Amino acid sequence: MTDQELVKKAFEMHQFSYVPYSHFPVGAALLSEEGRVFTGCNVENAAYGSTICAERTAIVKAVSEGCREGWTAIAIAGQGEDFCWPCGACRQMLYEFAPNLRVLAARGDGTFREVPLSSLLPCGFGPKSLK
Ligand SMILES: [Zn+2]
Repeated sequence: MTDQELVKKAFEMHQFSYVPYSHFPVGAALLSEEGRVFTGCNVENAAYGSTICAERTAIVKAVSEGCREGWTAIAIAGQGEDFCWPCGACRQMLYEFAPNLRVLAARGDGTFREVPLSSLLPCGFGPKSLK
């Protein structure tokens, strides 16, 4: 799967976003080295703290379906003029399973930028930190 195709899958998730408060749909698509794709959308809640981001939805889907290793890239698609970078909580959750992940952040016009997760979360704390 190409990066462009992964970004397209992230955009396709906007249709499922539940965003009555922010009105800002976000979609995510997480790719494994086996070619599996785990998608997610943001799901908001009247108790704002219970809201979950698209990226963490995709992460939880992957782990709950037995895929914890070999993640190669995640695409994140927003609708605004800025590239849709993952929030701090999502960066931490991604780092737990894939500190070397490639992050593709897309904006509303469909263009995207790629950066390594390690540049978004330098000196990250992960499972190896506990050893
Ligand atoms: Zn997030």
